[in-house]
Amino acid sequence: MGDKLHYFDYAATTPADPRVIASMCECLGIEGAFGNPASSSHAAGTKARSLVEQARAQVAALIGAEADEIVWTSGATESNNLALKGYADAATGKRHLVTSCLEHKAILDTMASLEARGMTVTYVRPSPDGSIGVEAVKAALRSDTGLVSLMLVNNEIGTLTDIAAIAPLVRAAGALLHVDAAQALGKTPIDVKAMGIDLLSMSAHKVYGPKGIGALYVRREVAARIAPQMHGGGHERGLRSGTLATHQIVGMGTACALAASGMEADTQHIARLAERLLDGVRDLEGVTQNARAARRIVHTLSLTIGLPGFFPFMLAADLAVSSTSACNSASGAPSHVLSALGLDAEAASRTLRFSIGRYTTPEDVDRAIECIRTVVAQCAPVAACAREA
Ligand SMILES: *Cc1c(COP(=O)(O)O)cnc(C)c1O
Repeated sequence: MGDKLHYFDYAATTPADPRVIASMCECLGIEGAFGNPASSSHAAGTKARSLVEQARAQVAALIGAEADEIVWTSGATESNNLALKGYADAATGKRHLVTSCLEHKAILDTMASLEARGMTVTYVRPSPDGSIGVEAVKAALRSDTGLVSLMLVNNEIGTLTDIAAIAPLVRAAGALLHVDAAQALGKTPIDVKAMGIDLLSMSAHKVYGPKGIGALYVRREVAARIAPQMHGGGHERGLRSGTLATHQIVGMGTACALAASGMEADTQHIARLAERLLDGVRDLEGVTQNARAARRIVHTLSLTIGLPGFFPFMLAADLAVSSTSACNSASGAPSHVLSALGLDAEAASRTLRFSIGRYTTPEDVDRAIECIRTVVAQCAPVAACAREA
């Protein structure tokens, strides 16, 4: 074992692809496209503008949207805030919202802030398999429901939501459908038109792009129903003001173009490694995979090491794995996703999220297996004592 870090936290963030980094570097210096994309009177501005528009088309192409339906933001957190608060600020009637208990904090905390402002929110509970059921969403819809917000892929357990089945119900109820696709982009095909999505949040740093840039897809027909949250200058069709960050935007565009062309190869590579990891721990007593029966992406594996005496800190330091989603790690509270699945606080605290990515190698996986087998062997005597007691 060398000093190498075996990184299994791609769901928290990914390193930027070298091709992304190269494209970004060309937008910063005096020789590059450093101009303000809003400066239309000289070549420095128009050069930056054309790169920004190329990136907009690259992002749009990955989700089946038109380029002018993409609004740049600072990330999926801002995209979620713009979609939800933007709807609430512009809403005239319909003040009931629907979401699920499995959402990211960027949705749940935003929903709480809207409740404090007098909106009502229904939180759909997941099915026992860890997915968000179509029938459960249908049952939550009311005549005054104005917006439904659901994640396409869950960040802790990797479950997929059947958005294509839910969308017609939402539209029939006269509500808008917002989808948090931060964990789905580049991992599973997205077609906003075919799936019936009105608003969709994206983030570059989950898909081998830079941190600090994201986008919100706003279907052309619903743009007037979203009130801007950032005023000044009227950039992005008035929906989000501020000088565009050319290098970040170009990085996200390149990342999305690479995701589009490489999704199949990435997925095959990751599926093979996920299988290798599971094969290496399958025989271990007490190790269970959460949400196994649900429709899932292969990239994210949630494993509970259900042995008394096991603590995530016992894993070797060269293994970068998340004991809960990074967002919950900050607060130290037990994962709301695992609680919603029915895990008690103890089981949740013994749960590890392995997320696999483009640069994961078989050697990384073998090291993970070795670490898991070592801690399980360490805990076995404690578990045996607990059984006898
Ligand atoms: C990471 C993530 C976010 C937040 O995205 P940022 O770009 O980091 O703000 C929102 N939703 C989900 C599901 C995520 O995984």
